[in-house]
Amino acid sequence: MIDPCVALRGVGKRFAEQWVLRDLSFSCPAGETTAIVGESGSGKSTLLQLINAVYLPDAGSIEVFGQVPPAIDTPLYRRGIGYAVQGAGLFPHMTVRRNVTLLAKLDGWSEADIAARFGELLGLMGLDESLANRYPNQLSGGQQQRVGLCRALMLKPRMLLLDEPFSAVDPITRLGLHKQFLNLRSVEAVSTLLVTHDMREARKLAVYLVILKEGRVIQHGPTREVINAPDDEYVKGLLESLE
Ligand code: ADP
Ligand code: MG
Repeated sequence: MIDPCVALRGVGKRFAEQWVLRDLSFSCPAGETTAIVGESGSGKSTLLQLINAVYLPDAGSIEVFGQVPPAIDTPLYRRGIGYAVQGAGLFPHMTVRRNVTLLAKLDGWSEADIAARFGELLGLMGLDESLANRYPNQLSGGQQQRVGLCRALMLKPRMLLLDEPFSAVDPITRLGLHKQFLNLRSVEAVSTLLVTHDMREARKLAVYLVILKEGRVIQHGPTREVINAPDDEYVKGLLESLE
């Protein structure tokens, strides 16, 4: 793969004596969405935390745009990475505007640049300006999730890490979120790693799949190739959910 956004070689991660990720080797295409698919406990969130420099690998090596995630200067490194989680994780005592713009303020952006980017993101995510002064508990779950995406994108990151951001909402709201996400991706080609346990979601949103099971990569490749040629019973089982 030419200039991947993320490249892993033999990556392992353990907590105490337990290895939760083992010998991960794959690369993700830049400017596209890669889905990390696996059931609960397969190590998906831990993998994102390695890319976000929350943890360092205990084996192997990681490069993100050719850079090894650092043990020091992590705030600077993380500024290039947007991160959004299931349930949005918004600060409850801050308005939508403050939640989204906080990092840009800390980063010294001008008020004009902040206002412009904030307005742009609300528009991209289909959120009305009138929501700007509300608090998270005055929003629907779907709206909270959209605000979470706006916050992750505020600093125009090169890389977007999404940890099951569409899982905690009802199916109709989820379809709306998928549509907004695809719309966003057509405007801003940020390299995205999307963690999901939902193969349908992965097929719809990602051009590249990494299938994880019990901390190991079972199969990875372009979405169509994996779907057309599953090379493992576990992957075949996941694909049955698409029929
Ligand atoms: P997933 O996101 O796929 O559900 P996780 O990455 O959260 O999986 O967890 C993978 C495994 O690592 C699980 O067995 C979990 O209990 C364990 N684990 C995750 N974080 C920690 C931690 N901070 N300390 C100890 N074990 C952890
Ligand atoms: Mg998780």
